[in-house]
Amino acid sequence: MKAVVVNQASNGVEVVDHALPTVEYGEALVKVEYCGVCHTDLHVAHGDFGQVPGRILGHEGIGIVQEIGEGVESLRVGDRVSIAWFFEGCGHCEYCTTGRETLCRSVKNAGYNVDGGMSEYAVVTADYAVKVPEALDPAQASSITCAGVTTYKAIKEAGAAPGKWICIFGAGGLGNLAVQYAKKVFNAQVVAVDINQDKLNLAKESGADIIVNGKEVDDVAAYIQEKTGGCHGVVVTAVSKVAFNQAIDSVRAGGTVVAVGLPSEYMELSIVKTVLDGIRVVGSLVGTRKDLEEAFDFGAQGLVVPIVETVDVDTAPDVFDEMEAGKIQGRKVLDFTKLA
Ligand SMILES: [Zn+2]
Ligand SMILES: [Zn+2]
Repeated sequence: MKAVVVNQASNGVEVVDHALPTVEYGEALVKVEYCGVCHTDLHVAHGDFGQVPGRILGHEGIGIVQEIGEGVESLRVGDRVSIAWFFEGCGHCEYCTTGRETLCRSVKNAGYNVDGGMSEYAVVTADYAVKVPEALDPAQASSITCAGVTTYKAIKEAGAAPGKWICIFGAGGLGNLAVQYAKKVFNAQVVAVDINQDKLNLAKESGADIIVNGKEVDDVAAYIQEKTGGCHGVVVTAVSKVAFNQAIDSVRAGGTVVAVGLPSEYMELSIVKTVLDGIRVVGSLVGTRKDLEEAFDFGAQGLVVPIVETVDVDTAPDVFDEMEAGKIQGRKVLDFTKLA
């Protein structure tokens, strides 16, 4: 079968002919339809989290169950399921048993420490594969498997609710989905901040009430405070320290700042403001199986529509190059249905 793997030098990807995986107890074999290409895949390919040459990449996989192993009760042949970054938790630690399974210390991540979804066939742990509703387009579902659930969870963490002001820093792929979840699922009032006007215009079309171009507004936080009285919650998807610092200054007393973007820097957090204004700062990473099920469902209802572009599997190395050069708008999704 065709598979996209980390190359032997662990500094990029290659498309190879790979042996078919075998199904063990509790597992299911999935015939992959689509798998999105995410920035995290680029980090894995470059060995940023440790070198994994030969690893099949991909954690935005969607496909149809072809075969189930012994002991599988949660899936049937023919089900459409996801292959997500949160591939499997231990099931019994303090995180797994308290609704925070993505924090499990012995977590398995698809396309990093286990083979992922960028291959014609993939194996999933049946109890951890989330079913995709019939009404949801499978290429769009691939994007919800990572970007969608990540932003949906972050919007929840931000305390989004009808009438509350929620601000999204970074209006790219993640940010656009965050705007859609905040507006269309939670009925919040939404501010979108970016330095790219095209992305802001798209955010406006997706439901943002206020858009703020950081290149045109002198003091972004002061502007947001003036327009909203301070946001109840802020989600930072921007990979920028400046955005994190502006986010802290954009919330009202009792507000929450949710960190999603991963700049390898520190944010400046005023202790006085944090204490006197009762600010909460939380990190948020992907989402649980339940979060993903909910995120899929809102997609199936047509409330949230990811922007995806399907491409041939053989173009994967070019897609990774484009991603590294920052040239990709929306999401590129490898189309395995054409290989059949
Ligand atoms: Zn991802
Ligand atoms: Zn665990």
